[in-house]
Amino acid sequence: MKINRRDALKLTGAATVGGLAAAGAPEKALAWSEFDPPWGMTQKNSLFHSLEPFYPGETLGANEMRISFIGTSVVQRQAQHQNSVFVELGNGDSFVFDLGSGTTINYAAMQVPYSKTRKVFLTHLHGDHTGDLTQLYCFGPCHDGKSPLYLFGPSKSLVPDPIDGTIYDDGVRNFAHHLREMNRWHTESFSFLPTQWNRAEGDGFDIFATELDWKTGDSSKTWSSNPSLEPPFGPAPGPWIAYQYNGVTISFQPAVHDRNGFLMYRLDWNGLSMIFTGDTKPNTFLLDLASQGNGVDVLISEIVVPPDIWAERESGISDTTNQIYQTGLLYARSIQENSHTPQKAFGYILAQLAKAGKAPRLGIGTHFQATNDTIKPALDDIRSWYNGPVTIATDFMVINVSKTQITQRRAVVSDYTWDTPGTFDPRAKYGVYPPKYEDTNPTNPYFPTAPLAQLDESLLAAVIPPCDYDPTSFMCTNPYHDI
Ligand SMILES: [Zn+2]
Repeated sequence: MKINRRDALKLTGAATVGGLAAAGAPEKALAWSEFDPPWGMTQKNSLFHSLEPFYPGETLGANEMRISFIGTSVVQRQAQHQNSVFVELGNGDSFVFDLGSGTTINYAAMQVPYSKTRKVFLTHLHGDHTGDLTQLYCFGPCHDGKSPLYLFGPSKSLVPDPIDGTIYDDGVRNFAHHLREMNRWHTESFSFLPTQWNRAEGDGFDIFATELDWKTGDSSKTWSSNPSLEPPFGPAPGPWIAYQYNGVTISFQPAVHDRNGFLMYRLDWNGLSMIFTGDTKPNTFLLDLASQGNGVDVLISEIVVPPDIWAERESGISDTTNQIYQTGLLYARSIQENSHTPQKAFGYILAQLAKAGKAPRLGIGTHFQATNDTIKPALDDIRSWYNGPVTIATDFMVINVSKTQITQRRAVVSDYTWDTPGTFDPRAKYGVYPPKYEDTNPTNPYFPTAPLAQLDESLLAAVIPPCDYDPTSFMCTNPYHDI
């Protein structure tokens, strides 16, 4: 007799609720082949797969905006990495909104060069929105990300620690400072390679962080790893504006999640606009932000599955009288109360905007585990309030926005991409500064890089001479004078 995983979990008591493992050793270990079928194996997203294909590398129209969903889930899963939205504009500018874990894999799959991901706007500093910053920071300068990394994000939360009253410096400036120092080993050791364009304002390993005050709208507080660094975009012209340069304005408002300091962003360019809420409970800041001007073209809001679905999926138990299920249900309800936008609330927000004549041209729910069995009820809930255009995002959904139309497509990507080829940064044509660890001796076959400059003599003495294993190799025929 085959047994499904749900029954197996009930038998063994080895369920997990809300990420907490319940005690109880399995009576008998089951092989995967005994499950029928393994949990989640048959799930699909037919909405996404019904879309027309988009192939990475497509030229963007001069007056268009393209929004690519790079990561779309709070739960880490193979089909959906954590959260990131990539916005490209027809003027050549591009902006990253959040960079959750796994998303740099998808940026590579989308063949986005590192030079296009140097401006990152963080809605908040939760790991599912920041997890891949280390990857972006560490490897950009090895490719064409040889200009500073610009981070925007929240100011201090100002929430006192309940034990000792400490007000932590939990804002983005201190975050950026520690990101920089955490990666010191990496940045120094990789600086045997060139890491700065000749005409860039700073080095690829420089970080410039702008703190956006969730309470006052001030954006004047900055921190940089390079005190002489002057960003080309300069200070924002007023409160609640994070960035204004080259015809692009990115404004912000507070969001209401599980601590002070969460932000949502609105980007306006060339008569086109988008909003990304990050994580939030339904709130009036969003209604105000989405009502500015003629409204917003694309409103991207987080949404969350209902607590009963969450509890069932996390526990593997559908028996609503089960104690473990009930504990999980209360836990899921508390998360929703604490922090998120229920499906119906997103419909309500859209309906309120429509009532004011400010309905977005497209509403998109994200931060959501998107499969047929969750998408259908979510759309039903949203449509109980609102009948306008709305969809649910998943990784690789691509939205093109022009004045006349909005198209939704499905990116077709390779599982085997390498780093994106080419140097897309316009400064590449002026060349690079010599690397920090340079060796200008004319006998250096790698001039001016010094690949062995950070190695102690005792280590170099133990290196097996290259000619011993390959007398025809470059390393053998062009010996490095240091060894
Ligand atoms: Zn989140």
